[in-house]
Amino acid sequence: MRIVVLAGGIGGARFLRGLKKAAPDADITVIGNTGDDIHLFGLRVCPDLDTVMYTLGGGSNEEQGWGRADETFRVKEELAAYGAGPEWFGLGDRDFATHIVRTQMLGAGYPLSAVTEALCDRWQPGVRLIPMTDDRVETHVAVTLPEPDSDGGSPAGAAGTSSGDGAAGGGQRAIHFQEYWVRWRASVPAHAVVPVGADQAKPAPGVLEAIAEADLVLFPPSNPVVSIGPILAVPGIREAIADAGVPVVGLSPIVGDAPVRGMADKVLAAIGVESTAAAVAEHYGSGLLDGWLVDTVDADAVPRVAAAGIGCRAVPLMMTDVDAAARMAGEALALATEVRA
Ligand code: GDP
Ligand code: CA
Repeated sequence: MRIVVLAGGIGGARFLRGLKKAAPDADITVIGNTGDDIHLFGLRVCPDLDTVMYTLGGGSNEEQGWGRADETFRVKEELAAYGAGPEWFGLGDRDFATHIVRTQMLGAGYPLSAVTEALCDRWQPGVRLIPMTDDRVETHVAVTLPEPDSDGGSPAGAAGTSSGDGAAGGGQRAIHFQEYWVRWRASVPAHAVVPVGADQAKPAPGVLEAIAEADLVLFPPSNPVVSIGPILAVPGIREAIADAGVPVVGLSPIVGDAPVRGMADKVLAAIGVESTAAAVAEHYGSGLLDGWLVDTVDADAVPRVAAAGIGCRAVPLMMTDVDAAARMAGEALALATEVRA
């Protein structure tokens, strides 16, 4: 069985670990979000690709869910001693090596898809990991920042405007997703989310082919706005999925009207979608989704999702461990069989 999974970071990676366990013989292709990518210290950082690679390759920090296990922060401390920011983005020493190798290869002319394949040679994630595009796409968020002197300026630990990264002054601004998410912890009002460059981007080699050859497409419980959204915004990908003629099944990242972790509710509000399992299903719509799993606490959402033309079931959706994630993946495979019939 050939399965294509669109994935962000933590939610995608943890689900994929379960899927590998539930379907050990499946041939899994992961189309990874690159809208979170950022250039820092001259290096290209791909947080979502790396979270998938480290998690499936057994090198991730388990409690945190991203970054490397047994990490130290000497390089970051040295950079800070030079006043080289931003301080708000945590890059560990082990992690730095990945970004150095990636940046070196990109500089030598290799596309990101080839670089990702090379990095995965080391990590052996057991899936084929392809970035959504080799072109540059960066998710930006239109926000209202507080005036620097006003109360409730920078959140605790956000380091004010000292890092010289251009964030001086309040008011209406468009900032990089990472600045919104990591520096401001999604605490400032957000009005729009734009995957800048997506409309000009081409799917990376292998993306459309994998979708065309798939028996099944899965949307893990990744962030619908800033993880799955940018992937679907690359021209051709949404259409290929909708036209593939195979079941497309998703799992809700919203449980009990709130994200399981992170601040997905804030970016859903920014695009005018309520933070409920049913509203996220409707946001994808029956043109894309054939099936949708909601958590048992959201069982009353099932009729609303079904009324939108999407097959829906309520099952436990908390990835407390790999077995729980594997049971979720098993339910998604079962729902796919049902909606196919
Ligand atoms: P990110 O790029 O690291 O933010 O990761 P993703 O976009 O792949 O996933 C983030 C989403 O995963 C968040 O919106 C969470 O609500 C969701 N999530 C995390 N853990 C769980 C879980 O155990 N169950 C469900 N249903 N969703 C989860
Ligand atoms: Ca992400």
